Amino acid sequence: MPAGLYIHVPFCLRKCPYCDFYSNPFDKDLAQHFTDALKRDIAASSAGTPWSETTFTTLYIGGGTPTVLSAPQLQGILDQCLSTFQCEEDIECTVEANPETIEDEKLKILYDSNVNRFSLGVQSLHDDELRRLGRIHSVETALKVFEAARRVGFRNIGIDLIFAIPGQSFESWKESLHRAVALAPEHISAYNLTIEPKTVFAQDWADGKFSSFPEDQEAAMYEYAIDFLESQGYEHYEISNFARPGFRSQHNQIYWDHSPYLGLGPSAHSFFDNCRAEKVRDVHEYIRRIECGESPVGKDEILSEEKLRAEAVFLALRKREGLNVNLFRKRFGTEVDERYGDIIKKYADMGLLERDGSFLRFTRKGLMVANTICSEFMSP
Ligand code: SF4
Repeated sequence: MPAGLYIHVPFCLRKCPYCDFYSNPFDKDLAQHFTDALKRDIAASSAGTPWSETTFTTLYIGGGTPTVLSAPQLQGILDQCLSTFQCEEDIECTVEANPETIEDEKLKILYDSNVNRFSLGVQSLHDDELRRLGRIHSVETALKVFEAARRVGFRNIGIDLIFAIPGQSFESWKESLHRAVALAPEHISAYNLTIEPKTVFAQDWADGKFSSFPEDQEAAMYEYAIDFLESQGYEHYEISNFARPGFRSQHNQIYWDHSPYLGLGPSAHSFFDNCRAEKVRDVHEYIRRIECGESPVGKDEILSEEKLRAEAVFLALRKREGLNVNLFRKRFGTEVDERYGDIIKKYADMGLLERDGSFLRFTRKGLMVANTICSEFMSP
């Protein structure tokens, strides 16, 4: 069974006002303490735990901004993961980067340290939108880093784009997509901007500094992205993700398939059997606990059969192929209709869900309201 290893680097040069991922302002000394603690966590997690018996198929270093760490720190983390855990020979090894925190030398070191997938947070190909998003990089820097990544040898590059940015026009979104495709990345993630609670944007929104993005315009942007990217040879394989054939993110697939994953670093989640655990969401506490020989797990939960079933449906529906109802029956010993028949019928009648052989999935129209429908499975 595929299994993923996730490392959360909890630092950014500056917090983006829309972001609710756990991260702190970068501090050189704290980053070194964190790196040392993380290496101890890697060693502890691989000894006498189920993870010592696991062969990992993916390694993903995300955050935060992993590339705020120095090249030797990143190299040390990668080396320790790959030498400590059992890993597939062709493990998919991804590092996320903010364009402002990486240059040729760091790229080269990552490439030489077995990173074979590079994920670049481009977000927009318009400087005014980047400024509105509070991003520290410019379009020019993003383009330069992309080209540099190709030059050092990366053959699997993904870029992230955001739409429904306050003030963004349809034309400008279209242009971002066209410019992105002209770069020929292997993978494109296209997310609509959501206003997450407790972010600066949530406060600005509450203060009336900007209003909600018009729903019809947001849907038109999403539909355009699907049509255009598919016409350019990208497979739309998950609500927000598009890939050239053979370049889907194997790591994210693990989450959507409910396969096991181990998360290391503050706020990182793990999932094994029916247990989910979250490391403490505080870098100082994470370091303290590890230095004192205490467990860095902040919360854990044994998921009930009910919750596991709901999650399995909710996650599988994110994939364009949808939920394999035969696999569901095999895993849970029950038909998906037995438990969720009412919800499925309601949305099928509305033309939002459909069956295709043994798969249950969103229709094109259903994709526009996928998050709302998915949440209904979680609280039927
Ligand atoms: S760089 Fe990424 S992780 Fe950091 S604050 Fe911005 S969006 Fe969040």
